[in-house]
Amino acid sequence: MGLERRFGAQNYAPLPVVLKRAKGVFAWDVQGRRYFDMLSAYSALNQGHNHPAIIAAARAQMSRLTLTSRAFYNDRLGPFLGRLCALTGQDRALLMNSGAEAVETAIKAMRLWGYRKKGIPENQAEILVCEGNFHGRTTTIVGFSSDPDSYDGFGPATPGFRKIPYGSADALQRAIGPNTCGFLVEPIQGEAGVRIPPEGYLGAARSICAEGNVLFCADEIQTGLGRTGRLFGLDHEGIKPDLLILGKALSGGLYPISALLSRDDVLGLFKPGTHGSTFGGNPLACAIGEAALDVLLKGKLVQKADKLGRIFLEGLGSLKHPAIEGVRGRGLLLAMDFNREARPFCELLLRQGVLAKDTHGKTVRFAPPLIISEAQIKQALGLIARALSRF
Ligand SMILES: *Cc1c(COP(=O)(O)O)cnc(C)c1O
Repeated sequence: MGLERRFGAQNYAPLPVVLKRAKGVFAWDVQGRRYFDMLSAYSALNQGHNHPAIIAAARAQMSRLTLTSRAFYNDRLGPFLGRLCALTGQDRALLMNSGAEAVETAIKAMRLWGYRKKGIPENQAEILVCEGNFHGRTTTIVGFSSDPDSYDGFGPATPGFRKIPYGSADALQRAIGPNTCGFLVEPIQGEAGVRIPPEGYLGAARSICAEGNVLFCADEIQTGLGRTGRLFGLDHEGIKPDLLILGKALSGGLYPISALLSRDDVLGLFKPGTHGSTFGGNPLACAIGEAALDVLLKGKLVQKADKLGRIFLEGLGSLKHPAIEGVRGRGLLLAMDFNREARPFCELLLRQGVLAKDTHGKTVRFAPPLIISEAQIKQALGLIARALSRF
């Protein structure tokens, strides 16, 4: 901890625990103490820590071929792209590394479509985003954040974005103009504190975009791949986006892998030289990604998240404390709101053996790996109750 404080940029304020190893839903610190992981690296660990099948796939690929660059073909990229398209019902996929890079890719794709297909005059394309959004940390992305911690001091903001209230289909309808090329939205705002929009909002927004000739782009980096009890967050409303952004659990936590998926008339617009990444789509990433999807689907983790999420939410709802303002959740993406700062509560949780992080001050998110069992949820609820009794 001292070395990080001394030599690291202080862009994080970690809880005071030093983790050394992990397996499944548990992580152990340097003193050998065991913790329930209730953050799952912001939902990158849906398949649990160190899943043996993903590790085996990674090891096998590592000893064969790890990186070619996209100057050449490799024998893993094509099959993985095909797999992703089949899974999502999209025509094409473009692989990147971090989530923010995939969001940047989506921004470029929407603008390109705006100019080439919709006929928006050059440099006039506008993308609508939501208040409370979190899409990553690049200069362009933080430029349209509504969180001062994210944008303050990092201007000037990239032009071409307009913020509208999250959860209001009317606001979206009103904001669409002739130069609007896309609407970028999270099915649930994770970083904003697990904000679940009103029922019907996403479906209505989807129709409004279709009618207004605007691309509907879902950032499912956190909500995708089973987290909310459906394969994708949008499945709760039975809709398919024009653009879909995936990341985090796409690798099961082993490796940074992200993807943008879309239709042929959107992703087909990229020509050689217009976009790329040295590591994006490398064979190691593809082998890990395929194994991570196998674990998710064969282990029926999506259905598990749905069932266990209900049990977890009911359990959280039955906890009593004067500081609790409310609980909510969808699948295994849950949150508890307090009427005061939640960080001290997270420190109490840590002492009980539960890793969880406050988000936006007064909210604690609970998002365990989807491989958690019902008995483990009950156990964790007991520890959460004990931490509450000391809060
Ligand atoms: C985490 C996250 C990102 C950014 O992903 P990075 O891999 O951290 O760049 C973007 N959008 C959402 C919704 C996220 O949760």
